Formats: sequence, C-alpha cells, structure tokens
Amino acid sequence: MKVKLPRFNKNTRQLVLFRGMRYFEEQRMKQISNHDHTYVYEVKGEVNKYEVVINVAQDDTIVFSSCTCPYEDGGFCKHQVAAYFDILNEQGRLHLDDYKNSLTLKEKHPSKPVPEGWSKEDYLELQKFNVKNYMSTFTKEELMDLMVMYMKQDMKLFMYLFHHYMVEEEKNKIKGLN
Ligand SMILES: [Zn+2]
Repeated sequence: MKVKLPRFNKNTRQLVLFRGMRYFEEQRMKQISNHDHTYVYEVKGEVNKYEVVINVAQDDTIVFSSCTCPYEDGGFCKHQVAAYFDILNEQGRLHLDDYKNSLTLKEKHPSKPVPEGWSKEDYLELQKFNVKNYMSTFTKEELMDLMVMYMKQDMKLFMYLFHHYMVEEEKNKIKGLN
C-alpha cells in the first residue's frame, strides 16, 4: 500500500501505531544515516535491536520501508512507526494528537477470533486480564460507545445482542414467566 509519510497510519494496525508512538516517546530509535531521502535507523525492541530502512520520495510517498524484526501481521511494524515519527519530528511537522483517533489498517479477517497485531507476550497478558475489573473502570455511556464501536467492526457481537433481545422478547410474551 502506497502512503505518504505523514499518513503512514493508513497502513498500520491500531495497536502497532500506539506501540510505535510509545517507542518514539521512549526514544528507542537512533538515526544511523540520512542520505538522499533514505533513512537508516536502529530501533531498540523489548529484547533485540532492529534495523529500519526507509526511502521517501520528493512528494512524501513512502517508496520503500523495511525492518529486520519478525513482525508479519500486516502493515508497518512499531519500529518503522517510531522511525516515521522521528523523521516527521526532525522536519518540524509532527503533531502526535493527529494520530490519536486516526484511520488505521483494518482487520483483513473479521471472522478471526482475535484482532491482529498481537505479539506472543500479548497472549500471555490475556491470561491475567480481568474483564469485570476492566469494565468497571468505564461509565455506562462509555461502555455503550465501546460496544457499538466493536459491533461495527464485528457483526457477530451485534448478532448475539440481537439474539439476546429476541429471546427476551419471546420470554416477555409468555404470561407464565416472571
Ligand atoms: Zn520492526
């Protein structure tokens, strides 16, 4: 997917975008060289260091972008994202807030049971995740907005809620049930 440098978010998964933003804030990237619109970075991951190579055309299009990390879940990886933020920052045109609710690469397989862009460590985190504790941190209004947002991404959740509604409606029709 051809995208302009400031719009790299269009080819980045949401989770990856925010991880790259954190990497940028933590200054994990180091610019090794910058010649003829070709940037080479070394980015410190959780364990290893990776090399990012980016080439940007005169018109801002990302011509070439690669990273030596093993990420392959679609779109750019967090190391490339950290480097993009650094280039934009160096050019004095980085507005982090623009990326807060920006358009990101959508799930290619909505029927997959989990969203994409997860690392092995994320699956380990999942086992410690307490749904009820987390849900209790939202107001009812916020929870409703969240539900609606995810229903738009995955019809299954909507279908189950609709099914629940129909079951309840049927129950209400039965006089002998309270
Ligand atoms: Zn990478």
